[in-house]
Amino acid sequence: MTEKTQTSKTYNINVDRDSCCGYGVCAEICPDVFGLDDDGIVVLLKDKVGEDLFEQANEAAYACPQLVIKVESQAS
Ligand code: SF4
Repeated sequence: MTEKTQTSKTYNINVDRDSCCGYGVCAEICPDVFGLDDDGIVVLLKDKVGEDLFEQANEAAYACPQLVIKVESQAS
């Protein structure tokens, strides 16, 4: 029998604001992590997420038309 070890991973979120075109898709998909400033450009509300927000953040990264969102596993 294998025992499940509880690993709580952390993921770093990065965005290249200079290349963001302000479509707002990320903020719609994952509003806990991505917001928009007054010009409609992405702002990060968190630069690290745990497993709970990873899938949403990753989905936002794939959905971004500019592909400027990076979600990377943080080495522990
Ligand atoms: S989805 Fe991409 S281009 Fe659109 S606001 Fe978010 S980071 Fe910017």
